[in-house]
Amino acid sequence: MTVDMDTDRASGAVSRRGTKRTTADEPGHGPPSAALAQIMTSGLAAQAVSVAAELGVADLLSEGPRSVGELAQQTGTHAPSLQRLLRFLASLGIFAQDERGHVGLTPLAAPLCADAPGSLQALSRLMGGPVVRHAMGGLVHSVRTGEAAIPQAYGMSLWAYLAQHPEQAALFNDHFTTQSERQIPAILEAYDFAGIGTLVDVGGGHGALLSAILSAHPGQHGILYDQPDVVAGAAPVLAAAGLADRITARGGDVFASVPEGGDAYVIKNVLHNWDDEQASVILSNVQRVLRPGGRLLLIEHVIHPGNAPQYGTLLDLMMLALFGSRERTVAEWEALLNASGFHVAQILPTRAELSVIEAIRA
Ligand code: SAH
Repeated sequence: MTVDMDTDRASGAVSRRGTKRTTADEPGHGPPSAALAQIMTSGLAAQAVSVAAELGVADLLSEGPRSVGELAQQTGTHAPSLQRLLRFLASLGIFAQDERGHVGLTPLAAPLCADAPGSLQALSRLMGGPVVRHAMGGLVHSVRTGEAAIPQAYGMSLWAYLAQHPEQAALFNDHFTTQSERQIPAILEAYDFAGIGTLVDVGGGHGALLSAILSAHPGQHGILYDQPDVVAGAAPVLAAAGLADRITARGGDVFASVPEGGDAYVIKNVLHNWDDEQASVILSNVQRVLRPGGRLLLIEHVIHPGNAPQYGTLLDLMMLALFGSRERTVAEWEALLNASGFHVAQILPTRAELSVIEAIRA
C-alpha cells in the first residue's frame, strides 16, 4: 500500500503559501528564520485543509458560492468556527470569501471536490487523518530505531490495522483510486505496453492500471493479483471498463506466490512498502514464473542524488514511519533486482514523479 501523491499540487503548494505571498517570504529570499518558521507550521495548514476536505466544503460549493451560515448548516458545524477555518484557508488561496461573506471555490480549492479529475480530497483526508498523524507523530521513534512507528501506536502493522478498520481502509483505497487517475496517463505516455500478450499486475489493487493498459491495447489479456479482500472490490472497476472478459482477478499472497502465465509482470507502488528482504521475496516469486528474457516493469519512485527538492524524499520518510520501508535510489533498485535474478534495462521517468523501471529476467 502507498500514500503517494503529486508533489506540485500537494505539500509544496500549501507550505509555500503559508503566509503573505510576497517574494520576501519565499525560501531563500526572506530571513532564514521566516522561511524556517513557515516550514515548521505548514503541517498545521495541511491539517486545516484536511478539515475542509473531511467536511466536504468544496463539494457544497461546486454549484456556486454560499454563505458560511448555509455551509455550517449543511456540514453540521459551528458557524463562527467554520468562518475562522475558511478565513485561514482563504489566506492560503484555498476558497475565497466576497464582501457579503459568501464563500466560493478558487483554483486551489477546486481539486478538493470529490468528482474533480484526479481529485485531491482523499489525499487531504488521508494526510490529516489518524493513521498518517500517528505514523508521523512517531517519526522520532522511527529515526531512533529504523522501525515503523505504526506498531508502537497501534500494537500491530498497518496492514493488520486496516483489516480491522474498514473506514480507514476505504480512505486509503479512495486515495489510491484518485492517485491512479493522476498517475496512469503519465505512465502510458512514458512506456509502450504494446506486444505483451498477457500482463499480470501484482498488488494491482482494484485494477485501474491494468484496465487503462488493456483499454489501449485491444488484443491484450490481464491477470489482476492482490489480497483476496482487495480483488473482491475490483469487479465494478473491471465491468465499468468493459474488461470483465479480458481480466482475471486472483486473490492471494505475494509472499507465497505470484500467478503463472504472464508474458510480462507489472508492480506499481508495492515494493516501497517493504524492506529489502521482503521485497526480494516478492521479486523472487516473479522470477520463478517469468520466462528468461521476460519483462518486469516496476513503477516506483527513484530517489536522485543532490539537494534539489524531490517529493520521493518526503514519501520515503512516510514509508519509514508507516511500514519501516523505503524509497530507493537507482543503485538500490539495481542491487535489489540483481540479487533476485533481474537486470535493469532502462529507467524511464514520467511526468507524475514515478519512474518505470524495466527489468529483464536473466
Ligand atoms: N498497485 C496499486 C496498489 C498499490 S498499494 C496502485 O499503484 O495503486 C499496495 C497493494 O499491495 C495493495 O493493493 C495491497 O492490498 C497489496 N498487498 C499488500 N500485501 C499484499 C500481499 N501479501 N499479497 C498481495 N497483495 C498485497
